[in-house]
Amino acid sequence: MSVPRVGVLALQGAFREHIETLHRLGVEAFPLRTETDLQLADAVVLPGGESTTMDKLLRKFDLQRPLRRRLHDGMPAMATCAGLILLARDVLDGLPDQESLNILPISVRRNGYGRQPDSFQANVAVSMLNAPFPGVFIRAPLIESVDASLEVLAEHEGRVVAVRSPRVLGLTFHPELSRDDRLHQYFLDMVASAGAGARAELHDQTRRAAGA
Ligand code: GLN
Repeated sequence: MSVPRVGVLALQGAFREHIETLHRLGVEAFPLRTETDLQLADAVVLPGGESTTMDKLLRKFDLQRPLRRRLHDGMPAMATCAGLILLARDVLDGLPDQESLNILPISVRRNGYGRQPDSFQANVAVSMLNAPFPGVFIRAPLIESVDASLEVLAEHEGRVVAVRSPRVLGLTFHPELSRDDRLHQYFLDMVASAGAGARAELHDQTRRAAGA
């Protein structure tokens, strides 16, 4: 995989800005709306928006199961805000029939910033970036617990706002709205190493099969 094809889930929400950012970084990014689109994608971005609506549309368009399967099989994903809610193992304050894809072992509370203003901007110190990232928080979910297997990449005022597993990057804010491409670049680096890992695995399997 030289230039990855990144599908940006485009059922609802801030998908255009992700596509623009990814184009600036030179990758093939496209709106993902169908199972056929999903088959073309090497990686996926789940944007911010409204998780309850996206959940309903995922089911309505028969995308929920194939997307979950690809993610379980290791397709890299970047999930922001409502997208993070879609990936969480536990969703608090969701609608009674709200479902999530259960890919990231975290609990998130929808609109969890309590009586603070619904939306705010804050400079976030992210562990692998050498200068703070301008975080745009819009009715952001609050990460209430994080499984020990995950790496916490950033906290803001004592609350976790960025996590990762080997193949999934989860952010409670909107990096696509700040015209700062560093977190998308970081995700593309994750995609590249996932591709390299998969190729090495295939190579090992081929060698084993050949009795080497
Ligand atoms: N509050 C929204 C939700 O529950 C998320 C907001 C956002 O994505 N900016 O889905």
